[in-house]
Amino acid sequence: MEFLRPRSVREALETFQKTPGALALAGGTDFMVGWNMGLLNGKTVVDLSRIAEWKGIEAGKTGVRIGSLVTHAELQRHPLIRREFPLLVEACALIGAIAIQNRGTIGGNIANASPAADTFPSLAVYEAVVHTASPQGRRAIPFLGIFAGPKKTHLRPGELIEAIEIPYARPRPSAAYFRKVGTRAAQALSKTVAAGLLWLSRGKTVAESRFALGSVAPTIRRARKAEDYLRGRKLTAETVGRAMDLVEAEIAPIDDVRSTAAYRFAVSKNLLKEFLECRPR
Ligand SMILES: Cc1cc2nc3c(=O)[nH]c(=O)nc-3n(C[C@H](O)[C@H](O)[C@H](O)COP(=O)(O)OP(=O)(O)OC[C@H]3O[C@@H](n4cnc5c(N)ncnc54)[C@H](O)[C@@H]3O)c2cc1C
Repeated sequence: MEFLRPRSVREALETFQKTPGALALAGGTDFMVGWNMGLLNGKTVVDLSRIAEWKGIEAGKTGVRIGSLVTHAELQRHPLIRREFPLLVEACALIGAIAIQNRGTIGGNIANASPAADTFPSLAVYEAVVHTASPQGRRAIPFLGIFAGPKKTHLRPGELIEAIEIPYARPRPSAAYFRKVGTRAAQALSKTVAAGLLWLSRGKTVAESRFALGSVAPTIRRARKAEDYLRGRKLTAETVGRAMDLVEAEIAPIDDVRSTAAYRFAVSKNLLKEFLECRPR
């Protein structure tokens, strides 16, 4: 294996241009699994960890820009992320266990494109934008638009994630919800994972809602039909029940080693119900 360690974005992009087929390495938590299986033999690996420009968290007027090399542990500790994006903090706190959170990066989590990735429902409801850089230039891709299928993205060869931009949720939501359903409290991949934001106007009427589910389809899903249905409606047993039925029609879970499709359908509907019943915080 050839192992290269560029010190800047420019150097990294030049490296990828000169070496078609090279593979990016960030925290290595997903990558090293392939290494152990011999899948990386004969490959060129480009270690991004010296790129200082991608390690910061910058507050802007309308949102925050998170460098792709920021780790799950750093996100949990950052005061601005804790204040503005509590759902992302909750997600990062449940990724693997502490060793994985110390090494794993947000950029690596996105590029790995696992349908069960725990940051995705939060990033989907906060309507994050992924910023990329490649020798051909820069792109800003809406979060849901980056995924092409399980473990597949629309990133082009040599295109790297450089940052994730998340707009502040304004007005502040009336309620925010995150729940990971796994077999254990740590080191468990999600059977289902969900996040939601709810804006209520007077009399329990829904002004706006956003709800996203992971591990129930080839890629992360926003429950758009349920969101549209709930807009302007009061939260009653009847409207919540109807929204639950709509969620069922928007997901396509499978049986796999962690769970069954039937369980995921049932849990997804119950998570939406729990979200819509949650007390404002
Ligand atoms: C024991 C264990 C438990 C885990 N538990 C969870 C869990 O509970 N929830 C969860 O969501 N994930 C979990 N993971 C998966 C993993 O830890 C995360 O996806 C992590 O965020 C990956 O980040 P990384 O920096 O380690 O990526 P790496 O392993 O370095 O890279 C992952 C992939 O992304 C590509 N890549 C990395 N950075 C970039 C970039 N900037 N631009 C373009 N491509 C890039 C790499 O080429 C590679 O294909 C677990 C992994 C392990 C080994």
